[in-house]
Amino acid sequence: MQTSFTPEQLADPHVAESEKILRRCVHCGFCTATCPTYVTLGNELDSPRGRIYLIKDMLENGRAADEEVVTHIDRCLSCLACVTTCPSGVDYMHLVDHARVHIEKTYRRPLMDRLIRDLLAAVLPHPARFRTAVVLAKLGRPFAPLLKRVSALRPLGAMLDLAPASIARPSDAATPGTRVPQAERRGRVAILSGCAQPVLDPGINEATLRLLSRLGIEVVVPEGEGCCGALVHHMGREEPALDFARRNVDVWIREIDNGGLDAIIITASGCGTTIKDYGHMLRLDPAYAEKAAKVSALARDITEYLSTLDLPKLEPKGLNVAYHSACSMQHGQKITLAPKSLLKAAGFTVRDPAEGHLCCGSAGTYNILQPEISAQLKARKVRNIEATKADVIATGNIGCITQIATGTAIPILHTVELLDWAYGGPEPQKLSVR
Ligand code: SF4
Ligand code: SF4
Repeated sequence: MQTSFTPEQLADPHVAESEKILRRCVHCGFCTATCPTYVTLGNELDSPRGRIYLIKDMLENGRAADEEVVTHIDRCLSCLACVTTCPSGVDYMHLVDHARVHIEKTYRRPLMDRLIRDLLAAVLPHPARFRTAVVLAKLGRPFAPLLKRVSALRPLGAMLDLAPASIARPSDAATPGTRVPQAERRGRVAILSGCAQPVLDPGINEATLRLLSRLGIEVVVPEGEGCCGALVHHMGREEPALDFARRNVDVWIREIDNGGLDAIIITASGCGTTIKDYGHMLRLDPAYAEKAAKVSALARDITEYLSTLDLPKLEPKGLNVAYHSACSMQHGQKITLAPKSLLKAAGFTVRDPAEGHLCCGSAGTYNILQPEISAQLKARKVRNIEATKADVIATGNIGCITQIATGTAIPILHTVELLDWAYGGPEPQKLSVR
């Protein structure tokens, strides 16, 4: 694609990067076929190619974002299916990241939209605040249908709908400290506790700690780590996102310097995609660029790491597992085989739902901010999963677990919970209550 940025515009490294990305696009439109919003809405401006044109036009003309651009960029899930499909290697992720920052800086959103975004940014990344919000949301749940009748308040209704029916007790899994392994030590890793996951489903990191301990891996839960920054990053709030990233980089570099780390384990693939991008996010910060690149190079999804540990092959269990590959897993991190291979080796029968490349509609805060499109994608995903006649669903991202669980009675677990069970851990509660 031809571009016409001025030398002055290209002096801005963000614009220079976007220009390089734009030039790779050859307008072929292959990406439209796998874009969930194009497939759902059928509008070219809700396709990757359409969004690329909108972004090009806005940036080239140095224009503030307008309502049209914001509408179509807001509808993008950042699922990155387009990146997997694109034959030209267009780095849509960093292009849309730049567009979102530009929108945040140049566009004044309607009051209610601003308030809801401020609320999400102030609450979700902080586990204590999020826990309180989940308790309040549970109480407010009966008002969800009322809120959903008013267009500007629909996101609040969607938020209440997503609140879990029961709230797990705070877990020791997030308590800082070093877990000495049960078996002979053969590795040392740090684990990300994160923000929303320990509140919504602490069992995921509990299962991870148990399994790694039995495999001889020492696990550190470092003091001071927190939200990876993805939630605000996807809202275009660059500075808070970079602050979260810097904080985690400091914490992990301290652990690398005091005892070394083989890996930084992440059990939510949405967070993993962002942490693997810290090196890029902080590339222009001379104090952090090198450290952030080091952290990104050590980041591993739990299934990626387990694949290096040669887990033994187990007898078949007679349990059919529909594997839902989160977008951040398959498109963001290109991890497609490891989770399924691990499940198969552990004795589960793995089934692939149709249209596995399409997002379930969770996408961070998307299911709150774009509830209508999200609901359509969820219904499509659930239909495809239920068609597999699986006994259980496995996935690697808490957002997908929360989203899909509200649409089906089939229990949905994190892949690592099934692996922990297969290799000697307790049966996951979601299965024992079936
Ligand atoms: S990230 Fe997903 S929703 Fe956004 S343009 Fe690409 S395929 Fe479409
Ligand atoms: S597939 Fe790639 S090159 Fe083709 S239109 Fe989409 S982004 Fe551009």
